[in-house]
Amino acid sequence: MTTILVVEDNEMNREMLTRRLERKGYAVLIAIDGETSIAVARANAPDLILMDMSLPVVDGWEATRRMKADHALKHIPVIALTAHAMANDRDKALEAGCDDYDTKPIELPRLLGKIENLLHVTAGEQIS
Ligand code: MN
Repeated sequence: MTTILVVEDNEMNREMLTRRLERKGYAVLIAIDGETSIAVARANAPDLILMDMSLPVVDGWEATRRMKADHALKHIPVIALTAHAMANDRDKALEAGCDDYDTKPIELPRLLGKIENLLHVTAGEQIS
């Protein structure tokens, strides 16, 4: 089963996203801050990570940088989620090592498209 790690500190957002992803057939793991997200990713090797950028303890920017500097984690695709549709955030997210970027409020069909794209890219790399 394809597993997605949802990193989100807002309980309502986290539960909504979890429910909707589970309905689409994904297994969902959760973390509520950046520091914990790294430990959960190490312990469970999710197929993809949805990373809220505004998080307590260690924010999403720093958590992504740390994951992308870690040999055991850097292959896991990360989609950054931010509340601001600013061009600057997109560049910042890609600079931090995120594989894609989306904005809140979440439009599920659009986000699912990005998730599926990245999962296919990853699967393709494993075959070749
Ligand atoms: Mn947040």
